[in-house]
Amino acid sequence: MKTIYLDNNATTAVSPEVLEEMLPYLKELYANPSSAHSFGRNLYYRMERSREIVASLIGAEPEEIIFTGCGTESDNSAIISAINFDEKKRHLITTQVEHPAILNLMKQLERKGYKVTYLPVDRAGRLHMDAFIEALDDETAIASIMYANNETGVIFPIKEVGAICRKRGILFHTDAVQAAGKIPIDVKKLDVDMLSISGHKLHAPKGIGILYVRKCCKFFPYIIGGHQECGNRAGTENLASIIALGKACEIALENIEIEQHNVARLRDILELNLMNKCSDIFINGYDSERLSNTTSISFSNIDSEVLLHRLDKYGIFASAGSACSSGSSEPSHVLRAIGVPEIAIHGSVRFSLSRYTTEEEINKVIEIIPGIIDELRMHRN
Ligand code: PLP
Repeated sequence: MKTIYLDNNATTAVSPEVLEEMLPYLKELYANPSSAHSFGRNLYYRMERSREIVASLIGAEPEEIIFTGCGTESDNSAIISAINFDEKKRHLITTQVEHPAILNLMKQLERKGYKVTYLPVDRAGRLHMDAFIEALDDETAIASIMYANNETGVIFPIKEVGAICRKRGILFHTDAVQAAGKIPIDVKKLDVDMLSISGHKLHAPKGIGILYVRKCCKFFPYIIGGHQECGNRAGTENLASIIALGKACEIALENIEIEQHNVARLRDILELNLMNKCSDIFINGYDSERLSNTTSISFSNIDSEVLLHRLDKYGIFASAGSACSSGSSEPSHVLRAIGVPEIAIHGSVRFSLSRYTTEEEINKVIEIIPGIIDELRMHRN
């Protein structure tokens, strides 16, 4: 059976070009880039080339890029660095809809006595600037606001948030794990101090990420040990994955506009047809600025786990919320925060497309879903 993968916000396929580029570094090019001999030194130069390419994806300077082990590490490193920056500042700001990589760290810091403001979002998944401004105080160590939400795809006003933080002298981090490679990002135009990216969301392998740290921003390392990454992140570099990430960023940069146009077209076909063919459905964040690959659909009166199970049998893979919250029957914190009504919150499914999604696949999904929805609702009544 041919499978249809619509869970690209959970992870993406490594692209063939990326795989080809990284393989030699898992075979014959295995030296340690920190070694003094020429074998290692040559690989160090190759690693630095990759850093340049990754930097160019977000308009950064290569020396502003720290390679990390994943998006979660990048997120954690940013927050921990900020609280070490000025230990007297014990207030942190984030949103109710962040990824657990931020939220669970915040909860842990609350237990240690930090005060955390979790900003709400509205019914369209949007963040409101007045609530953000009101939350700021002289004790605020950092604001960490995601660039785009992993479940709804809603894009937050990062430029505006950054400008206010800069004016108030407050550190600003953004989790751009879902945004990078999908929308153009230029850190030179944003007053962002730190920004996280994860390789496996843009067709590089799992287990590689970056943290951008603005040149003038002081950084306190989270992982202590050797001198790698200029002392900012110890541990022998994952060279093959760094090379892969460089290639993935190069491809993303070259194709960002055309790809987003293509996935938006397919996402719109999916949404329009499901809205026409299924009654009582609601698209979360529909009226907001969104990532073009993401749609979060709430079907009233069905159980999303059952729908996903039925789709799975057809070889169609999607998710009920974020991958980290699937498997629990509790609806995701994001859908709760945007106030999806009780009748629909348990029937919410996220479809996330990629450059490899085809129109034929989307048509197949459109053909199958309405029948399943009717059947599930009939059994409920
Ligand atoms: N931040 C967001 C918005 C995400 O969607 C994810 C992964 O789903 C992460 C952080 C964590 O990234 P990683 O899986 O590389 O740790």
